[in-house]
Amino acid sequence: MNFAKPLPNYLVKRYHGWKATTYSENQVWYRRLATEGQRPRAMVISCCDSRVHVTSIFGADQGEFFIHRNIANLVPPYAPDGDHHGTSATIEYAVTALKVAHLIVLGHSQCGGVQGCIDMCKGQAPQLEAKESFVGRWMDILKPKFDLVADVEDSTDQARQFERQAVVASLENLMTFPFVSAAVEDGSLSLHGLWTDIGEGGLMCYDPQENKFVAV
Ligand SMILES: [Zn+2]
Repeated sequence: MNFAKPLPNYLVKRYHGWKATTYSENQVWYRRLATEGQRPRAMVISCCDSRVHVTSIFGADQGEFFIHRNIANLVPPYAPDGDHHGTSATIEYAVTALKVAHLIVLGHSQCGGVQGCIDMCKGQAPQLEAKESFVGRWMDILKPKFDLVADVEDSTDQARQFERQAVVASLENLMTFPFVSAAVEDGSLSLHGLWTDIGEGGLMCYDPQENKFVAV
């Protein structure tokens, strides 16, 4: 077995830098985190995209957010079929065990996953249509929303709108989980839909009454 290699040097250096500064200056706090366990007030579901940094946007420290990241910040519909459901498992743990008060879905601009779904819906991505494409099958979650943006002529505008629809689809699918809808209805959990503009640093929040995103 020789499939795992030592860490590259640049990461080893960065780790030792962190240990000697940030960690050593806050050792008491880190030890308290370790012994007292986590009590995050919020869960965040964001895209894997390396440009999306929810902890930077909100200036958050360790212990504050229970974070799940996947392609295009999607929540699949509730499907208790005995299969492997990573996203659903994180939601179940956050809501039923950690009892987070807030569940935030964070979408973003220039999302490659959402663009892939657009290409697929336009018949321009046969590689994503293949049964073997994990990305393609994952993005199927968003396909039903394409009708809402199909007529938008400007492709950039269409992508930005579809990225926000990905957030709305996730919020709707969250409500199909019985433990989520029960917690929302008894007031112990609130859902939030956000979308961030990477280039501009903007942040918009979904308003379900108006069915639109408004600047935070
Ligand atoms: Zn993305």
